[in-house]
Amino acid sequence: MATAPGPEQRRLESLVGRWKTEGWTRETPEAEAQRIGAFDTYEWLHGGFALLHLVDARVGDEKVDGAEIIGFDPERGLYATQYFGSDGPTAYEAELEDQGRRCRVADEERERPLHRHLRRRSQRHHGALGAARRSGKLARLDGHHPHEAADPVSESQDLLRPGEGRFWRGNLHCHSDRSDGMRTPREVVAAYRDAGYDFIALSDHFEEQYGWRITDTRDLRADDFTTLVGAELSSGPWSDRTTYWVAAMGLPVDFDTPPIGDPAETIGWAHDAGAFVVLLHPGLNNLPLGVVDRLPAFEAVDAVEIYNHNTFRSQPDRADGAYMVDGLLERGRRISITAGDDAHFEYPGDRFGGWVEVWAESLEPAALLAGLKSGSYYATQGPEIRRLDRDGEQLQVATSPAHTIALGGAGDRWLDATTVLDKNGGLVSDATFDLSAFRESYCRVTVVDTDGRRAWSNPIWP
Ligand SMILES: [Zn+2]
Repeated sequence: MATAPGPEQRRLESLVGRWKTEGWTRETPEAEAQRIGAFDTYEWLHGGFALLHLVDARVGDEKVDGAEIIGFDPERGLYATQYFGSDGPTAYEAELEDQGRRCRVADEERERPLHRHLRRRSQRHHGALGAARRSGKLARLDGHHPHEAADPVSESQDLLRPGEGRFWRGNLHCHSDRSDGMRTPREVVAAYRDAGYDFIALSDHFEEQYGWRITDTRDLRADDFTTLVGAELSSGPWSDRTTYWVAAMGLPVDFDTPPIGDPAETIGWAHDAGAFVVLLHPGLNNLPLGVVDRLPAFEAVDAVEIYNHNTFRSQPDRADGAYMVDGLLERGRRISITAGDDAHFEYPGDRFGGWVEVWAESLEPAALLAGLKSGSYYATQGPEIRRLDRDGEQLQVATSPAHTIALGGAGDRWLDATTVLDKNGGLVSDATFDLSAFRESYCRVTVVDTDGRRAWSNPIWP
């Protein structure tokens, strides 16, 4: 018998810690997608020969509690687990794989800043949670830093494309005549479809003056074009200096009207309902960074619109939301980055100028929403970001032919920013960056094409 843990046991170290999972189960022919929220805690049992995995989860309306032991069986040369919980026992054999930021423990598919992967080899029984394939966001709460793992491994992570899929083009911000836009919802959908988009979120204003109504676009969906049901919500009276606006996508069509005088309630509700909540045009309304800590429901914000195309065409210097993106990131907020049109169909130039490319397996609203919420997308005015591969502290970027591929952070990290361009004025389409200067902080990639159009990656936290 071994008297000390061997390398196989020590490799489990990379799982140790407390993990938060948010996401959706995959829709199957038998079951609709359900929202998942879970805390998973992995800790060593005495002696360091096996891990104890405690599950504290909610799947849809169901609460799931359980515990699992994960160990290595040297005779069979594989990892074995046994789970008992409110959703029944599960046992499976697994391999621990070095992989990108996706990790699979049992059937739970996770995104994580790690590089180990327990792959199920066989299974004797599994319960409801085990059967649910998870996708979504996983944030590490504590535990060891992955670089302290006992057994160094290659850490290639595909930051943009976790798993099977393709990019789908979508505009997350536009209006119809159900609020202050000029065209019917059907005409707006047709215009975007004809322009080569795969989906839109029609974000009509959800306001008293428009009858507190969510525009129901579900009957405008087709095989090759879909919609996310959403709305633009405001935190207060439009004339107030610190009112802010969000687009929330993934809302129920019977979304509640807020209490009188407290519209910000709807922003928190949207987040609680599982919507993807995007702070819109902070530059247009000149939302000061200094007030964000005291804005009502502001913690609900998942992403910031870094570029608003309608504003660019009407008040050009106010179209840029980068100050808010970097300001929130510097404050430690884990926000993503979007671009949107804010099209009202008031003039020809107010559309088709800022969008997102979402990586997802299918053009299902739930899959697109999961891609948005997990950050598997980029924002753009035209340039493509084709790959973002992270290997340890190296980042490899592949783009459409561009003038510039830049990596930068904010604040005192500006000296560490790096840019790849051709000094002779030619084009570049790939770049390799060293992320080590951004440790304990964040960085992000911006691509500029020869017409000056930009694309923005989501933030990377080295
Ligand atoms: Zn708008």
